[in-house]
Amino acid sequence: MNNRTIDNRYRVPPKTKIDLDKWDPADHSAFDGDKDAGEKAANKLNKRLESLQELLYAEGKHKLLIVLQAMDAGGKDGTIRHVFDGVNPQGVKVASFKQPTPEELAHDYLWRIHKQTPGRGEIVIFNRSHYEDVLVVRVHNLVAKDVWQRRYDQIVAFEKRLAEEGTTILKFYLHIDKDEQKERLQARLDEPDKNWKFAKGDLAERALWPQYQAAYEAVLSRTSTELAPWYIIPANRKWYRNLVISQILVDTLEGLDMHFPQAEEGLAEIVIE
Ligand code: ATP
Ligand code: MG
Repeated sequence: MNNRTIDNRYRVPPKTKIDLDKWDPADHSAFDGDKDAGEKAANKLNKRLESLQELLYAEGKHKLLIVLQAMDAGGKDGTIRHVFDGVNPQGVKVASFKQPTPEELAHDYLWRIHKQTPGRGEIVIFNRSHYEDVLVVRVHNLVAKDVWQRRYDQIVAFEKRLAEEGTTILKFYLHIDKDEQKERLQARLDEPDKNWKFAKGDLAERALWPQYQAAYEAVLSRTSTELAPWYIIPANRKWYRNLVISQILVDTLEGLDMHFPQAEEGLAEIVIE
C-alpha cells in the first residue's frame, strides 16, 4: 500500500462529480493481505504516527486539521480511537460538533468551527464539522435553500484561507452501506455496553438515507480541492478503514519536511552532578 495507490483510488480530484453508488464501501483492494495482516500493518503505521506527531509538536510549526464525516454508526469514534491509539494527547485535540447551542446559532456557522482549528504544532480532529451545515441542515431544511447553496463556495474559501495560512487539511468521508449501518445499529441494541450509543433519532435519519447520500455527493463533488482534499474511505471493514487513514496521515506528515528544533549549544560538555 502506498500513497499513490491510495490517492488514485480514494482521493476525490477537484470538480469531479461523485456518484457514491459507484464507490464500493467493502473495497480492500489497495492492501494485499487479510484482516490480521492489515491490523499488523496498521499497528506499525501507528508507531510511525506517534513519532511524527511528536516531531510536529516539538517543531511547533505545522498545523494539521483532519475532518471526519460519516453517516450514523459510520465509525468516526472507532477511527479516532484506533488511528490515534497511543499518540501523545498533548498536541492532539478532538473537536466534536453537535447540534449548535443558542449562542452558536446566533453567529455564522463557521464561528464555532474557526475557534477549534489547530494552532502551530497541533493536530485537531473534527468529529463532524462545518459540513453538517450542508448535510443535516440541507436534509432537514434548517435554513432556506439559497442559504445552504452558497455555503459550498464559502467553505472552499474558508479552507483555502486556512491552508494558505499554513494548515494542512485532510478530509475523510467514511463510506458504509445501508446494510452495514443496520448491523451496527442492531449491535447497539443487542449489546448492553453499546446501548448508550443507540439514539432513537438515528432511525429517523436512517430513513433519510437517500437524501443524505445526495447531500454527501454534493459535498464531495463541490468541496474537494488541492489544498483540502476529500478521501472516500471504504469503511465497511474497520481494519481497512483504519489502515488507509493511517497510511494517508503518515505519508502526509512525512511530506511536511519537519525537523526537531536546534538544540542549545554546548550540550555535549554538560555534566549533571
Ligand atoms: P455517534 O455517531 O456515536 O452517534 P454523533 O456524532 O452522532 O455520535 P450525537 O451526539 O449522536 O453524536 O449527534 C450529534 C448530532 O448533532 C448529529 O445528529 C448531527 O447531525 C447534529 N449536528 C451537528 N452539527 C449540526 C448543525 N450545524 N446543525 C444541526 N445539527 C447538527
Ligand atoms: Mg449519533
